Amino acid sequence: MTALSHLSPPFASGTAWLVGAGPGDPGLLTVHAINALAAADVVIYDALVDRRVLSLARDGAVLEHAGKRGGQRSAVQRDISERLIQLAREGFRVLRLKGGDPFVFGRGGEEALALAQAGIPFRIIPGVSSGLAALAIHGVPATIRSTNHAVILATGHCAADASMDWASLARTGAPIVLYMAVANLPAIVDALMQGGLAGFTPTLVVHAATTCEESVIEAPLECLPSLADGGVIRSPAVIAVGAVAAFRAAIANHLLASGIEAAQ
Ligand code: SAH
Repeated sequence: MTALSHLSPPFASGTAWLVGAGPGDPGLLTVHAINALAAADVVIYDALVDRRVLSLARDGAVLEHAGKRGGQRSAVQRDISERLIQLAREGFRVLRLKGGDPFVFGRGGEEALALAQAGIPFRIIPGVSSGLAALAIHGVPATIRSTNHAVILATGHCAADASMDWASLARTGAPIVLYMAVANLPAIVDALMQGGLAGFTPTLVVHAATTCEESVIEAPLECLPSLADGGVIRSPAVIAVGAVAAFRAAIANHLLASGIEAAQ
C-alpha cells in the first residue's frame, strides 16, 4: 500500500504490468509505477533500471534481472516473454520493469504481443523516456516553437545496416535524439554530415541521466567520434543533435541541479 494507491487500478493475481521505470531518478516514476512496485510478487527488470527504483519493491517481492546489456550476455527476448507468461500463469502479479518508457526502443511491443497471444491479461504503464528526460533536465527543449516543429527519436543500434537512412533524417532539419548510438557514432556522424548537417551543429550528450553517474557534454557534431573513441562519451547516453541543443546556454546559469543528491 502507498499513500496514493487509490489512484491506481488493483494489481490482480495472474496478470502482468509492463511498466516504464523512467531514466533513473525515482522522483520521475509515475504513481502507477510506484503502486505496482508496492504490489508485485515478481519484478523482472532490465539492466538500466536504477537500484533506487528497485528498492521501492515490496518486501518479499522476488527481483529477477532480465539481463540485456551491450557487451554482456543477452537474455533471448523470447525467453523473457516466456518467463512473464509462465509466472502470470502460476498466478503471480508480474511486474515487467523497463528503463524509460516500455514502448520506446524497449522491446515492450514484443512482450505485449507475446502476452496477448498467450491470453495473459496485462496493462502498459508509460514511463518518462530517457531521450526526453535527459534533454529536459539539462535545459534543452525537444521542441522550440521558433526552431522546430518535429523531433526525431532514433536508435543508433542498427547504424551499420542499410535500414537507417540517416541522410534523409538529417535533411528534415528536425533535431535528432539518438539512443544506443555510442558504439556507432563515427558512422552515424559521417552519414548525418553527408545528409547536410554542418560539422558545427550543436549537440548535447547526457550519460546516465538522472543517476549518480550522470555526466553532460556539449560539443559540435564533428567532435563526437573522437570523444567516443577517447572514452569521453560512454554508454548509456542520449545524444541530442540540432539547434535545440544550444538553447541550454541561454538558461543554464539559472537551472537548479537535477536533485539527484536528494533522491539518493
Ligand atoms: N525504453 C528506454 C530506452 C531503452 S534503449 C527509454 O525510453 O528511455 C537503451 C538506451 O536508452 C541506452 O543505450 C541509452 O541510449 C538510453 N538510456 C536509457 N537510460 C538512460 C539514461 N539514464 N541516461 C542516458 N541514456 C539512457
